[in-house]
Amino acid sequence: MSAIINNIEIIKAKSTKINDVDFDDLKFGSVFSDHMLVCNYENGKWQAPKVTPYEPITLDPSAKIFHYGQSIFEGMKAYKDENENVWLFRPLDNFKRLNISAKRLAIPELPENYFMEGLKTLLEVDSDWIPKNEGSSLYIRPFIFASGNGFHASPADAYKFIICTAPSGAYFSGKVKVLIEEKYSRSANGGVGFAKAGGNYAGQFYPTQLAIEKGYQQVIWTDDNTHEYIEEAGAMNIFVRINDTLITGPTSDRILDGITRKSIIQLAEAENIPVEVRKISVKEVVEAAKNGSLKEMFGAGTAAVISPISGFGFKDEDFDIPELEETYASFLKKRITDIQTNKTEDPFGWRY
Ligand code: PMP
Repeated sequence: MSAIINNIEIIKAKSTKINDVDFDDLKFGSVFSDHMLVCNYENGKWQAPKVTPYEPITLDPSAKIFHYGQSIFEGMKAYKDENENVWLFRPLDNFKRLNISAKRLAIPELPENYFMEGLKTLLEVDSDWIPKNEGSSLYIRPFIFASGNGFHASPADAYKFIICTAPSGAYFSGKVKVLIEEKYSRSANGGVGFAKAGGNYAGQFYPTQLAIEKGYQQVIWTDDNTHEYIEEAGAMNIFVRINDTLITGPTSDRILDGITRKSIIQLAEAENIPVEVRKISVKEVVEAAKNGSLKEMFGAGTAAVISPISGFGFKDEDFDIPELEETYASFLKKRITDIQTNKTEDPFGWRY
């Protein structure tokens, strides 16, 4: 069955999988909605996007994604409020960042209307999949990869832009203990750390596995050159609170310009929380942990919004961060999620 919505062709799934899903017990990103948006780059141009059933795709074994890793993605969420209105959070920022990543990976940039109209149409078709339960949302995964063929190590001549969605519960269930990494790096100056390139994440898995074997849940990445400055927490931006000041590192070639990070900075400033954007040395964090001025540490990203850190390891020593009754983490998380889910006014114009 085929239809047209917002000028986009819709090929509906023959049946729905929604009745097999327990919306009260959702994991993160493990069940997928009935449809996806697909847009192909062929003959030197992005072709009209289509909504199709969520289904496997066929690729040639020589497709360049398999050999040279030309692949980028985004992560965002849709929320449904009490009146069944659907909200996105700063979606144009995701679109812009997708094209920043595309440029760095020599992938052709995508037109804005294909992304925005495509996403809106997909959400209209699968609106029943957007959870209403507190803490749940529809996780949205836009991605582009090289589908063009050939062993020549050069950019492909064909790409696929796909958006899949997955109704999801909370990302992390508890506080995490992290290991400050001294050997491995996730990114380097002049590299692709600022892009959401698939390979960045593949490169993180092994050092993270080693940290898990040592009893930590995540790695705190330090700069590749000196390993003296903390940069990101797993696949999240990092914040530390020393006394009353909230500090996060400046974005760079090596650090992703996170949408949650920049929203937290703006919110904190509006709430008169002292915020500093500057380099944070491992030494400063260790000293603050020792003298009791390290009050909080947390990761910030779309999936978990804010993920509190209960302690960290560094050079075979463990440091606990004693739990405060009132944290910036829980205050800021509530402010952001209330804006995201239309429970409060949005003075920043973030809701869409
Ligand atoms: N850093 C990295 C490496 C990430 O993968 C993410 C998740 N996109 C973030 C930070 C947080 O970015 P955002 O707040 O835009 O999700």
